Amino acid sequence: MELRYTMVDSGQVLVLSDAVVKHIVSNRQSRSGQAEAGGQLFATFEDSTVLVTRATGPRKADHRSRFCFIPHRVSERREIKQLFKAGLHFVGDWHTHPQSVPRPSEIDLSNISDMFAKSRHGLAGFVLIIAGTEAPPHGLCVAICDERQCTELAITEELP
Ligand SMILES: [Zn+2]
Repeated sequence: MELRYTMVDSGQVLVLSDAVVKHIVSNRQSRSGQAEAGGQLFATFEDSTVLVTRATGPRKADHRSRFCFIPHRVSERREIKQLFKAGLHFVGDWHTHPQSVPRPSEIDLSNISDMFAKSRHGLAGFVLIIAGTEAPPHGLCVAICDERQCTELAITEELP
């Protein structure tokens, strides 16, 4: 399944490829006791389209529990370098929540805004995806975040 979202402010389209949706969905916390999972999102840019084609993680070195996911920073930086060589740009993060329809926590919001402010990039916002236990698109929260706020995106198209 490929999912398309429109970023109202910029008029850009955010596309989550089938592989990315599958990877995130396969890590959902659908059984009780399953730990949170997460990773990074990588994309290519084409005209006004941001095409997210790779979702990484979770990794062995991440700290994972039922209500918490702390990524291994060294692994993250290594992924960014390696995938950049392959022409893929870091655009944000994803992680799971043990909620049916997920909402970002205060910590999620402050983490991504902090990261946006502190990193060097040419992006208008970082992508934050949170996967709940329900099937997509309903069980996915997809947002664009800058140093001040996160704006949840509405789905515009769902392709099989
Ligand atoms: Zn969270």
